[in-house]
Amino acid sequence: MAAVASRFAGLCASLKNRRRERTPAVFIHSLSLCSSPLSPASSSASPYTKLASHCHFFHRFTTRMEFWSQGSIDTNEGLVEQLKQYGAIQSNKVAEVMKTINRALFVPEGSPAYVDSPMPIGYNATISAPHMHATCLELLKEHLQPGMRALDIGSGTGYLTACFALMVGPHGHAVGVEHIPELVASSISSIKKSAAASLLEDGVLSVHVGDGRLGWPELAPYDAIHVGAAAPEIPPALLEQLKPGGRMVIPVGSYFQDLKVVDKNPDGSISVHSATSVRYVPLTSRGTQLQGY
Ligand code: SAH
Repeated sequence: MAAVASRFAGLCASLKNRRRERTPAVFIHSLSLCSSPLSPASSSASPYTKLASHCHFFHRFTTRMEFWSQGSIDTNEGLVEQLKQYGAIQSNKVAEVMKTINRALFVPEGSPAYVDSPMPIGYNATISAPHMHATCLELLKEHLQPGMRALDIGSGTGYLTACFALMVGPHGHAVGVEHIPELVASSISSIKKSAAASLLEDGVLSVHVGDGRLGWPELAPYDAIHVGAAAPEIPPALLEQLKPGGRMVIPVGSYFQDLKVVDKNPDGSISVHSATSVRYVPLTSRGTQLQGY
């Protein structure tokens, strides 16, 4: 175990150095696609977790190994339980909403619904991995209270928009903006089969075709803004549409990306911190996306 641990420590150090130098590395890419939140689920001081506290990449890799070694999951509840054990879900609120919205309704037919991985959904887009959905819900949960307004940019399959709608409830608003019309249509038909169907019918939840970089001014300001695609920088329109006291979660960067948590303070000033390293598809023009970036 010590030998394995030291080999991985070396690998981690070299990956970190590469990262500083911003040299592309395929291994980083594949790890990032499987990115997990920083807070480990396991509190036991195993050699893995001890090393993990020194090495972000090692932690990610080993928690994935632990996760995968527990066998395949074939129910939405099972997935939620795994995400709880794994530390991606930390609150009952997020567990409840992820149990209520069945991921299987949102992944393309034939895709394994309960695998903790992003899945292609066509048009050079992906549904985010369940642990990333959980991470974003955890980061935003205080801003998704009943009656609040949520904006989901790059809503893709509509999975998170549906979760937001359930959380803000019948007196709130959850708005999805997606620039691929076919994805908007399929997200609406998935939502209609889900536990958020009545909220769609009542207009609490809506999904629109549009350029998400411009936000959705009609229902601004928003308590919570989620961006499901990586922006080179935080779009000014989204900052403008964030309510004082509100929070935006947005991946920022090109190859290497950070999940930024942007808080608009009550006086209108902005505080930003990074939650974790991630790998999302770009927030871009429809043409660039359809050409494969
Ligand atoms: N949260 C979604 C993520 C989908 S992937 C899910 O898990 O299903 C990111 C999405 O952002 C894609 O559907 C892509 O089409 C969309 N997107 C990229 N750039 C965009 C833009 N400028 N405006 C709106 N949507 C955009």
